[in-house]
Amino acid sequence: METVRLYYTDSGLLEFTAAVAEVREMPDATHIILDRTAFYPTGGGQPNDTGSISGAEIIDVAEDEAGRIVHIARRVTDTPTPIPGRTVECRIDAARRLDHMQQHSGQHILSQAFVQACGAETRSFHLGAATSTIDIELQNPTDDDMRAAEEIANRVVFEDRAMHVHLVSEEEAARLPLRKESAVQGTIRVIEIDGFDWSPCGGTHAGRAGQVGLIAVKSFERAKRMTRVEFVCGRRALIDYRLANRSATAVARQFSVDRESGPASVERAIQEGKSLKKRVRELLEIALREEAGRLLDESPMVSAAPASTGALQFKLAKGIFPERDIEELRMLAWKIIERGPSAALLGTQDGSAARLVFARSPDLPFNMGAILAKACEGLGGKGGGKPDMAQGGGPNVDKLPSVIDESANQILAAS
Ligand SMILES: [Zn+2]
Repeated sequence: METVRLYYTDSGLLEFTAAVAEVREMPDATHIILDRTAFYPTGGGQPNDTGSISGAEIIDVAEDEAGRIVHIARRVTDTPTPIPGRTVECRIDAARRLDHMQQHSGQHILSQAFVQACGAETRSFHLGAATSTIDIELQNPTDDDMRAAEEIANRVVFEDRAMHVHLVSEEEAARLPLRKESAVQGTIRVIEIDGFDWSPCGGTHAGRAGQVGLIAVKSFERAKRMTRVEFVCGRRALIDYRLANRSATAVARQFSVDRESGPASVERAIQEGKSLKKRVRELLEIALREEAGRLLDESPMVSAAPASTGALQFKLAKGIFPERDIEELRMLAWKIIERGPSAALLGTQDGSAARLVFARSPDLPFNMGAILAKACEGLGGKGGGKPDMAQGGGPNVDKLPSVIDESANQILAAS
């Protein structure tokens, strides 16, 4: 026999008594079936109620194929198992029920509001743990569409329109301006939001629209050729407002401006950051060009005579530059070798690792990639690159001066 659903006619009923019809002991839970219940089972996009049945904690509620509502109780050894035939006292978690009623009733209102604002029908509804979503038939959603639907929905809330439950025949239902067709046969349960919306639905609803509280669209996105609208109602809207206000205020405080000026201040700071970065790069180019010139002035002119080219004269610049990052060292190496026949052997210490950049001007034949690879072995690491520019490193920081000297000797040994 189907369970009598007390929530159909009274969604405010949170404490009730019922007779136990059946008890099933499952491996990790007790399943309880009552002759009547106010517990809402998961369905229609709305999650189940929780609560207790004669002290046993109800953690889930589902409907079976026979239309019976199964209350799933957590197994606790010291709670007596309900006995079939006995009357039990049942209690529903009021905060969870109110939350679900606010989101679910809010969905009815918002769905009708989207029909009136932009002719968009709702195709599905999901009541999530933090926010809910509806998928609506809207091809090119705009902020204005969202605001227009929000305005209509909240007007219905502020007018505190009554919400009625009608149990009607299929013929009677056919004469009502239903927003969507009923999926059930026989007696149809229709939820009317006074003069605004009529929808067949088996869920739990507020008695009046005022109980739903504020209805706010949080975001929207195109999804599967429809528009997915994320929204919050009632207490969730209050919590969301607090969070949004707190983060917006925190951002504004960083700039010592009022809350609404926060985004403009952030935008300005980002632009400033970008132009500063560009300016730093320009100044770095100038400084490194100067530094390269000075280094070359201080570096000796050397000779080498590789077999491939014969006698060559060039500048050999080498040095260790602590606190420089590898990118800056590369830039310095380029600035050196672009000034004439030269080779640069540069090192730095980056945290606990030694780093090397070796480069030479295009007119010299040395393979800096091979010379650097050998130097990196001496540092206990590895590296490589092209014949004219190579980089690498290793953990043996104290070997940095000696590997640079050895690399210099290797270049000069070609003579
Ligand atoms: Zn409903």
